[in-house]
Amino acid sequence: MALPILTVNDIAEDGISLACELGADELALGPDDARLPGQVSLSVELVKVESSVYVTGQLCGVLVEECVRCLREFEEVIRLPFSVEYRESESLSRQPAKHSTRERRGALAGESAVGEEDVYPLSGSRVELGEMLREQILLARAVHPVCREDCQGLCPVCGQDLNERRCGCAERGRETPFAVLQKRRDGPHGKI
Ligand SMILES: [Zn+2]
Ligand SMILES: [Zn+2]
Repeated sequence: MALPILTVNDIAEDGISLACELGADELALGPDDARLPGQVSLSVELVKVESSVYVTGQLCGVLVEECVRCLREFEEVIRLPFSVEYRESESLSRQPAKHSTRERRGALAGESAVGEEDVYPLSGSRVELGEMLREQILLARAVHPVCREDCQGLCPVCGQDLNERRCGCAERGRETPFAVLQKRRDGPHGKI
């Protein structure tokens, strides 16, 4: 099931919950935003409180990232819980109607904006989940993804993937005249 278009009137007094599978196109994710090899599953609950709609749920799926150290692609399982509020645009008048992800990143980095960045406008009476979910994915992506914590990366001299084998460049770089001398002193005849 694709992402449903919900209006405030669709939400029952005791809330509604729904689950669906979404592809990159439904989340308006471009290839530069995030790469989804398959679909992500969404489970979400919507509750109306006065003029607000509170949306809590979880997005689960797999993202393809490129390791910043070894440049290999790897799959990362994501499990993103979220909790946001949709509010009538009038009560958001002090906020920009739509804030870009970049601005939200800035707000998250600052200390003042607690919680307010998770408020989205109700457009008409529609609860637009797509843009919010897209932002959840973008915010969750690592700035410097690594395939694993101890990834050795590529040799800066010869480009060898050091996870596969050592190339010896680093060792050769350390072969200073003093190190050679040290090796000779500790040689087969023992220390001088
Ligand atoms: Zn790596
Ligand atoms: Zn090397």
